[in-house]
Amino acid sequence: MRAVITGGAGFLGSHLCDKFIERGWEVVCLDNLSTGAEANIQHLTANPRFSFVRHDVTRYIDVPGPVNAVMHFASPASPDDYLRLPIQTLKVGSLGTHNALGLALAKKSRFLLASTSECYGDPDVSPQPETYWGHVNPIGPRGVYDEAKRFAEAMTMAYHRAHGVDTRIVRIFNTYGPRMRLNDGRALPNFLYQALSGQAITVYGDGHQTRSFCYVSDLIAGILALFDSAEHLPTNIGNPHEITILEFAERIRAITGNKAELVFKPLPQDDPKRRCPDIRKAQALLHWEPKVNLEEGLKLTLEYFQKKVAEERRVTG
Ligand code: UDP
Repeated sequence: MRAVITGGAGFLGSHLCDKFIERGWEVVCLDNLSTGAEANIQHLTANPRFSFVRHDVTRYIDVPGPVNAVMHFASPASPDDYLRLPIQTLKVGSLGTHNALGLALAKKSRFLLASTSECYGDPDVSPQPETYWGHVNPIGPRGVYDEAKRFAEAMTMAYHRAHGVDTRIVRIFNTYGPRMRLNDGRALPNFLYQALSGQAITVYGDGHQTRSFCYVSDLIAGILALFDSAEHLPTNIGNPHEITILEFAERIRAITGNKAELVFKPLPQDDPKRRCPDIRKAQALLHWEPKVNLEEGLKLTLEYFQKKVAEERRVTG
């Protein structure tokens, strides 16, 4: 069996590469390394069942030989990244998804789209069930990501309905863990990096906005359960434990021993006020729910960040 994983050198993509290799599959990892890193897949490169191709999936995807699964994970995913790369973000969600679906159609393979809770925008329903259509500003700064992913969902359903492609759509909520980029700009990397370098943690707005953080191993288990199921409609995977960003900052200060006062900065435009997955569908259909609580997950992530920050200090002297 052989899987093509787009964005395979990214945070989630590289964990998926690991899982397919563990399952005994061959893995073709495609990544243009715009936000991914070769370091995330370095441990796999000696494996004869693993290959890495540096490729931008907004261009035609040519993979010779049979393919049984296309996992489409290529995209910037941090608000800072998609604000810095707005056109690339729109292109990978639209053209990239079209190319990845074309590959799945040509190879008669199963296709899984990495979609997002951003499809719900700044929701006026909480927690968010899959049946909620969302509250998205198409022309705001986050629109480049939200609308690209909404288009990607529409395209995936169209390939399913018009061409009979065996598709899956996972709506991924905030996820954290090893292999996140230190400087990707999201709350967890920012907070941990700041705390470990003795800087003040930057809270945007008054910090009363909420998020629900899922540890990466739980998220990957949910995605694989969805992949193995027969469900074509979008399915939320995330941890429903909702906390405010202020509480989250305090948790990071506590585990790192950071003593600096919090610094408050302006809230970015259209920053969702609440985000929490309704996971009843995943529980019933996939018999999946998260197992790792925030305390355990943060401990594991802290160890990774400590190593990375130490490496960075050695490099920069
Ligand atoms: N945030 C923050 N300080 C930071 C980075 C992010 O307060 O240094 C806030 C951000 O405004 C948002 C939440 O943390 O309300 C989560 O942001 P993140 O970038 O992790 O992802 P999002 O869930 O917004 O896609």
